[in-house]
Amino acid sequence: MEKLILIKYGELSTKKANINLFLKQLKDNINFALKDIDANIKFDKGRMFIEPGEDNFDKVTEVLGHVFGIHEYDVAYKLTTKDFDEIGNTVLKLVKSMEFTTFKVETKRSDKKYPIESMEFSRKIGAIILKNLEGKKVDVHNPDLHVHVEIRLDAVYIYFNSLMGIGGYPVGVAGKGLLMLSGGIDSPVAGYMAIKRGVKLECLYFESPPHTSIEAKNKVIDLARKLSLYNNDIKLHVINFTHIQQEILKNCPHEYLVTIMRRMMYRISERIARSGNCKILVNGESIGQVASQTLTSMNVINETVKIPVIRPLACFDKNEIIAIAKKIDTYETSILPFEDCCTVFVPEHPVINPDVDLAREYENRLEWEDMIYEAIHNHEVIKISYNDKNEEFEDLL
Ligand code: ATP
Ligand code: MG
Repeated sequence: MEKLILIKYGELSTKKANINLFLKQLKDNINFALKDIDANIKFDKGRMFIEPGEDNFDKVTEVLGHVFGIHEYDVAYKLTTKDFDEIGNTVLKLVKSMEFTTFKVETKRSDKKYPIESMEFSRKIGAIILKNLEGKKVDVHNPDLHVHVEIRLDAVYIYFNSLMGIGGYPVGVAGKGLLMLSGGIDSPVAGYMAIKRGVKLECLYFESPPHTSIEAKNKVIDLARKLSLYNNDIKLHVINFTHIQQEILKNCPHEYLVTIMRRMMYRISERIARSGNCKILVNGESIGQVASQTLTSMNVINETVKIPVIRPLACFDKNEIIAIAKKIDTYETSILPFEDCCTVFVPEHPVINPDVDLAREYENRLEWEDMIYEAIHNHEVIKISYNDKNEEFEDLL
């Protein structure tokens, strides 16, 4: 009897036309996630099987808990015989060492030629457990132990209470997107949600040294590293925004600082996105959260770009966002008190309903095309992998 891990695909198995693409991506992602662990991977249209060495089961099950596209996975026992008595004996041997009072047997028969029908098979396995072990009861609604038997063409698989995967689509199937990543709570959560739908992210961070510190940048690197757990690895673009911010501060009315600053951020983001073949921008904006996120502000800021801007948190309350941030372990990093470029120059009364013509008029006092070109030309790229040290390198844009 062989012990292995069996993976169920979930939502992606409904994508009939693209199923091969989805499966290939999922397989590549699992391979990537397990690259430092010795494990053999096989797959077919309904299931994926991983055969780790005995010492690696815990490591593999932990890693699979972070791979999008996995709905459910199980530590399973594979029998190459389909003889009923042998299956029954094996189930009995396995459940003997488990702690439970109530149980339920579920049988799936993808080998339709198998002579015993599923309900009957479950009933017979249940009878063996009841006959041989004292004090056990069947509970079909809320059992302590689920006993699953899958009769597939090649073999029979026995497994018990399933582990829940995180669902979603395999990262990469939707193409690439660029996440505007600040050191705040919202943007890492927005990124996580985009990755969940299969978007492979690159990230972009605007810094304003010396007004923003190296600690603020390291915090963003750390957040990107936490996201890279779901994204395979992450390319983090860092744009020096100091000159642009100072020029805005010098030349534009202060209540329009944030509006104009964000118009510049959007323009730069679109250009970085296009050059890296990212099809969307993703950010952590949430309707009404601050002055720059009113519906009017969104119009005035959004009109600077043509690329779609996805805002996964648009309709979330802060508490809902915080709950996800805690779940994905970005919250504690996000609340570290280092100032971001959006907070160092915040005016006392930012305009809540900016006027687009005024915004254009004010920003045209600046040589903003040149400044944007310069910022992009000098931008830095950091490659981040969950387990590796960061590699810094110059981008060749
Ligand atoms: P968060 O919203 O992530 O908590 P924040 O509150 O500092 O951070 P907001 O002012 O709410 O940011 O900005 C809205 C969104 O704009 C952020 O979620 C992020 O996507 C983007 N953004 C803000 N500041 C930066 C920055 N310095 N670099 C990159 N993106 C940024
Ligand atoms: Mg915010």
